[in-house]
Amino acid sequence: MKIQSIRTDVLSATLKNPFITSLRRVDALQDLIVIIECENGMTGYGEGAPTPMITGETIGSILATIEYIKPHLIGLEIEDFETILKIVHTLIVKNTTAKSALEIALYDLKAQSVKLPLYQMLGGTQTTFKTDITISMGEIDTMIADSQNAVALGYDTLKIKIGDNPKKDVERIKAIHASLNKDIKLRLDANQGWTAQESVELLLALEKHSIFAEFIEQPVPADDIEGLKYIKQRVQTPLLADESIFSLKDAKRLLDMQAIDYVNIKLAKTAGITQALSLADLAAEYDVKCMIGCMLEGPISVAAGVHVASAKAQSITMLDLDAVALLASHPVTTEVLFDESLIKLSDCPGLGAAYTNH
Ligand SMILES: [Mg+2]
Repeated sequence: MKIQSIRTDVLSATLKNPFITSLRRVDALQDLIVIIECENGMTGYGEGAPTPMITGETIGSILATIEYIKPHLIGLEIEDFETILKIVHTLIVKNTTAKSALEIALYDLKAQSVKLPLYQMLGGTQTTFKTDITISMGEIDTMIADSQNAVALGYDTLKIKIGDNPKKDVERIKAIHASLNKDIKLRLDANQGWTAQESVELLLALEKHSIFAEFIEQPVPADDIEGLKYIKQRVQTPLLADESIFSLKDAKRLLDMQAIDYVNIKLAKTAGITQALSLADLAAEYDVKCMIGCMLEGPISVAAGVHVASAKAQSITMLDLDAVALLASHPVTTEVLFDESLIKLSDCPGLGAAYTNH
C-alpha cells in the first residue's frame, strides 16, 4: 500500500466558551488536518493543534515540519511501518505536535489496512470510558456556575484550571468544593503557575479544610524538577506531571527521583502514538498510573488518545479527553462517540474519520 500523497488543511473551529488557563485564553481552535492517501485509494487522517507555550509549535511550524518530512514518505509502503516511523522521528528533533499529526494518520492507515479498529490493532479491548471536563479559570461565581452546569451534564470529575494567584486559587477551590456534592471529584491544574513553596502552602491549606483533590497537576514550571519532588514530600494530595514530561527520558528521570505520583500522557507531547504507548509501559514498570490528556484540539487527535487509552487500559486509568465536548462544531467526525463524559469506541477499522470539507 504505497503512500501517494500527503496534504494538510488548516481550519478554525468555534468553542462553546472561551478556554482559559494560567497560560492562555483561546476563543477559537486553530487546527491542522493531515490527509495521507495511498495508491489504492485508502485515506488516513491525522490532526494537530498548536499549543506554542507548551510544545513551542505554531500552525506555521507544524505545516513547515510536515512539508519537510513529506517528500521522504511519498512512495513508501505502509507495510514498512517501522521504517516510516523512524523517518518521521529522526529527520527532525522536537516538533512533537507535527510528528503526532503524521503518526496518527499513519496509524489510521495501518489499522485500516489490517481491517481493525486502531485500539484492537494495538491490543486493546476496553470500549467505554469516562472523561472529566475542564473548568476554565475565572471569577469564583463563574467557575461555580460552570462546575454546576458540568455536573448537570453528567460529569462526576471536574478539572479546575487555576494558577494565576495562589490566594485566589485557594478561595476558588474552597468555594467550588462547597458548592458541589461530595461525590464529585476535583482535579486541579495550575499549569506551572506557582512556586514549589506556594504549592505546598496552598495544598496544605486545602488539606486542612479536608479538601483532597484527586491530584494537583503541574503546579510548578516544567523544568522545576526539584520543585515537584519538594512538593511531593510535603503534601498528601497526589502530584501529576504534565508539561514536565514529553519523552520517555523526561518520565524516567522523574520516576527515578520519585518526584511524582502520576504521568499525564498527551500525543502532542509524545510526538504521537508510539512513544505514548511506551510511556504507559514505562510508568507501569514503576507501578505509576497515567492519565491520558489532550491539548485544546480536534476530534481525530482526541479519538487517537481514546484508542491509546484502550490499548494501555491497565496503565492509563484516568482520561482528560474533553476537547471535543468543548467544541461548538467541527467539520471532522470520527467513529468515536463523544457524549459529554461518556466516550465509546466502535469496531470501525482505523479511526473512522470523515472530513466534510475534504
Ligand atoms: Mg495540564
